[in-house]
Amino acid sequence: SLEELVDSWDGEATVMRRARSTDALITIGVHSTALGPAAGGCRMRTYRSSAAAVEDAHRLATAMTSKLAVCGLPFGGGKAVLAVPSIPEGDARRDLLLELGELVESLGGLYITAPDMNTSDVDMDVVAERTSHVFCRTAESGGCGNPAPATAAGVEAGLRAAIAHVFGSDDLDGRRVLVQGVGAVGERLARRLTDDGADVVVCDIDEQRADHLARRIGVRAIPAAAWLDEECDVFAPCAAGGILDEGTIPRLRCRLVAGAANNQLRERADADRLAARGITWVPDYVLNSGGVLKGVGMELLHWPPEEVANRLQQVGEDVASLLRRADTEGQTPLAVAETLASDRIDAARATRV
Ligand code: NAD
Repeated sequence: SLEELVDSWDGEATVMRRARSTDALITIGVHSTALGPAAGGCRMRTYRSSAAAVEDAHRLATAMTSKLAVCGLPFGGGKAVLAVPSIPEGDARRDLLLELGELVESLGGLYITAPDMNTSDVDMDVVAERTSHVFCRTAESGGCGNPAPATAAGVEAGLRAAIAHVFGSDDLDGRRVLVQGVGAVGERLARRLTDDGADVVVCDIDEQRADHLARRIGVRAIPAAAWLDEECDVFAPCAAGGILDEGTIPRLRCRLVAGAANNQLRERADADRLAARGITWVPDYVLNSGGVLKGVGMELLHWPPEEVANRLQQVGEDVASLLRRADTEGQTPLAVAETLASDRIDAARATRV
């Protein structure tokens, strides 16, 4: 039930509002403000129940706390969920986004919003009509624009570092990488890796999209359902979450899993299952932080462009040191990332008066 969800969550605040304009439920989960204001995107989608929407807001906000802490950014984790009966367009969409802006503004900076699934930089310009606590607005409005290119750049830097760790060299020449999902991030990643000489294979449930891309960049496309049958060096999930579990992990035919998709593991124990098979898994939130680094860096911390570029490359160094530490300590990369995040949060709490 809703009550159980709210009671069992270790976050700081759950804010809910029924939208006036559309039949939508807006939920903001503020997981932690230990390191700074809670930052995180706004997801718009349909849910089977209000409880499912709140649960998603909680889960996503919790993940943002770890992501921002591991990046070393002075922000906590939060997330907004707009549970809609269908994705609104036109005036209905605009009204809903303005209401989100009002709700965010009413929290006085506790939570800072940004785009996520089904919301864009253009939508954030609308939100910004009601609040300044928003990032990843359009480039025309002084924002960072679509975060996907920065995410893809960070994923590539981290992927190279992980390849060097696992295979002893970051030379991509002939290295087979299966990219699952060639949307905003996956397509860019596939292009970059192909340019660098990797033997890229792509798949997408939108098989036409995968085929088009494969033809344009001269790589091979496979049916989406065949992703577990394809032997590769690296599997790069850039589509949906929850794909690594008890059923799929025994069937993986790769040595490294590193991709942009959020929440790749169905449960925590899947990190141990991967390790037991000798497969290195790079925690998704360490690898896919490029978009948030750029958005937060440019718009909230006012980094110059060179600093943004440096920080995207730094994802590679972060991944390298994480994987080294995991080996040295005999821990999974997930356990090391969790320790890193909780150490930073505990240190911030300890210095608070
Ligand atoms: P997107 O919607 O642009 O692309 C996703 C692609 O995956 C689509 O082409 C879709 O058809 C395909 N897809 C969906 N389910 C699939 C399946 N089961 N098998 C194969 N293909 C499937 O999304 P995106 O912005 O590229 O993001 C991809 C992933 O990366 C998501 O999990 C997202 O949460 C995560 N992520 C994105 C960003 C960003 O900056 N866009 C940042 C961090 C994390």
